[in-house]
Amino acid sequence: MTDTLLPPSVTVVPGGDAGADTTGLGEIARGAGRVRVDDKSMINARADVNQLLPMKYRWAWDKYLAGCNNHWMPTEVSMQADIALWKSPNGLTADERRMIKRNLGFFATSESLVANNIVLAVYRHLTNPECRQYLLRQAFEEAVHTHTFQYICESLGLNEGELFNMYREVPSITDKAAWALKHTQNIEDPQFHTGTSETDQAFLRDLVAFYVVFEGMWFYTGFAQILSLGRRNKMVGIAEQYQYILRDESTHLNFGIDCINQIKIENPHLWTPQLQAEIRQMLVDACALEVAYSRDTMQAGMLGLNADLCEQYMHFITNRRCVQIGLPPVFAEGENPFPWMSEMMDLKKEKNFFETRVTEYQSGGGLKW
Ligand code: FE
Ligand code: MN
Repeated sequence: MTDTLLPPSVTVVPGGDAGADTTGLGEIARGAGRVRVDDKSMINARADVNQLLPMKYRWAWDKYLAGCNNHWMPTEVSMQADIALWKSPNGLTADERRMIKRNLGFFATSESLVANNIVLAVYRHLTNPECRQYLLRQAFEEAVHTHTFQYICESLGLNEGELFNMYREVPSITDKAAWALKHTQNIEDPQFHTGTSETDQAFLRDLVAFYVVFEGMWFYTGFAQILSLGRRNKMVGIAEQYQYILRDESTHLNFGIDCINQIKIENPHLWTPQLQAEIRQMLVDACALEVAYSRDTMQAGMLGLNADLCEQYMHFITNRRCVQIGLPPVFAEGENPFPWMSEMMDLKKEKNFFETRVTEYQSGGGLKW
């Protein structure tokens, strides 16, 4: 029997400390020594995962605080103008309506897929309490995002089944979800344990698939579409909600990038040339899926957007994501065709937006109660 098959609770730990109970739900190690900060680690930690202090990763805690400072609820945003425009027969073109529905349909279940990946897969294997504290905050934010789509659906009187079943009916959306799910299916298996190079690399691939690709690439065509409507004074309530979601998602993305980079620092043997090549290919494939999705949602140009510009934008974003996780860009250097996306995020946020270490948007607009 190799150690891949041993559950973490029976891994023998030299020195008899709290051991490698990576869930935090094992037998209590009565009388075990106090946690030393040096024993804390991102994955396969020996330190007790139930003890937040002493803290090792200030960046994770700072993102938890930033998330709390940015609290919002979708029901704080008025939908009156959106409802009037949606119900008015000439308010929107048929192309705009199709784009809006496919956009909402993509997000409506994507927020759940991301939440399920965090709660049912990532949380168990990320063996650090300050990172788990952030995951708990993020999980709640994903619930707020799902709530947003429930609220939009109810406000506009959209067909519930059409919206929420879209990821099983529209192939360009199904293809994206299925691609990401391959990576989570692997690590949410109860028999799966980190602790070998092979399984630790599988965990890294899941972080890339969900944080870098799903939240860091695939949400951005959707943000550009809705914010583009908002700039033209259309669907302004949804556009405001998307700005809040975008702010949350930038923190989720940056947390994921920090996790990946910290795991690399602690486990340099995992970051092999082969894995690096594989991850670059993952980003190329993910970009192609997104380009197909943007062509499907926007068969004609509208609102200053078209599928070619979205492709150029996605190349720009993909290159940024490569650099953020320490990989060379995969596409030729190109301009950002949507510089106004930055304006929509406000200057303070933009300044830090593509940096690996983000100083957060502490004063960035809580909602008025
Ligand atoms: Fe989200
Ligand atoms: Mn998210």
